Amino acid sequence: CSSSIPKTMKGVIIEKTGGTDVLLYKTDLPVPQPKEGEILVKNDYIGINYIDTYFRTGLYPTGGFPYTLGREAEGTVVSTGSGNTFNLSTGDRVVWLATGAYAEYTAAPATHAIKIPDVVPETHAAAALLQGLTALTLIREAHHVQKGDWVLVHAAAGGVGLWLCQLLRAVGAKTIGTASTAEKIELAKKNGADHMIDYSKDDVVSKVKELTDGKGVVAVFDGVGKTTFDASMECLARKGSMVSFGNASGAVPPVTIARLSAKNAKLLRPTLFNYIATRDEFETYANELFAFMTKDKMDVRIHEIYPLQEVARAHQDLEGRKSTGKLLLKP
Ligand code: NDP
Repeated sequence: CSSSIPKTMKGVIIEKTGGTDVLLYKTDLPVPQPKEGEILVKNDYIGINYIDTYFRTGLYPTGGFPYTLGREAEGTVVSTGSGNTFNLSTGDRVVWLATGAYAEYTAAPATHAIKIPDVVPETHAAAALLQGLTALTLIREAHHVQKGDWVLVHAAAGGVGLWLCQLLRAVGAKTIGTASTAEKIELAKKNGADHMIDYSKDDVVSKVKELTDGKGVVAVFDGVGKTTFDASMECLARKGSMVSFGNASGAVPPVTIARLSAKNAKLLRPTLFNYIATRDEFETYANELFAFMTKDKMDVRIHEIYPLQEVARAHQDLEGRKSTGKLLLKP
């Protein structure tokens, strides 16, 4: 009942770009009103993603201030706007993908919200959506990985990385992963990586060549960016796909297309949103992800659930390479 919705709420905004000191915790932000096609969600668990740090630092433009970071959360629908809300109604337990997640309440587009199956715990749903869908769409659409394919996954113990390892195992691929510590290497192996390389010490190109009989991998999934790009290109097999999907170490410098001719390589720079832009695409992939989670018993690794006030510490852990799996915020 809408009378129980308060006028103000807690949330985190930024008024300028910069370090974690620009993250401002507020207790008097206005609770948004759902517009046409939107649902108002009381968020229980908010997902942190590396992209949140890009908006905070200014690597990606926010388009104005004040700006509320965060692209996904799990929660309960407390009211609905006019128009089509895809049968979502008050009381439904949902996960959603949009903007403005670092807050108690978000008015989210119903097109990108979906009910959570009863068997999936709230924290798992919150941890899975953005990173799980990224991994799933990358291995289907950026490069459709087939059984027996050799692939390379950078930052394999990270949020997207652990989903890639698990989904690639489910597909029957042969996965080589990279990570920077012994603990991360163990975790990625447990989650399905067949071979792991400590890229803080060992040479990735020669290890990959050794493991693949000199042939290289049919696809590289590279969310690390600046520091790994060149080695990733070297690791590709002839006609392989270089899937550059992020920049945790910094943006990849411009590339000349002539470089692709050495192996007739494909170079992609996809975003999740362009794979799930329509309701139909979003719903199909989200349901498939839930099916993987319930039938294939995916391990949903949650690094820590941080109180919303401690968002700066969470960003420091993520950017300081201290985390594995998912970081969540609790408003
Ligand atoms: P992660 O949990 O993977 O964290 C990033 C990891 O990158 C770190 O844990 C670290 O692992 C590794 N890393 C390597 N070099 C650095 C560095 N210099 N600074 C910090 N980390 C470094 O984050 P996410 O799962 O949220 O995201 C992974 C990547 O995927 C990001 O680049 C993100 O932007 C991208 N992404 C892209 C999407 C898209 O639509 N294109 C959607 C979702 C994510 P280690 O210590 O093992 O090196």
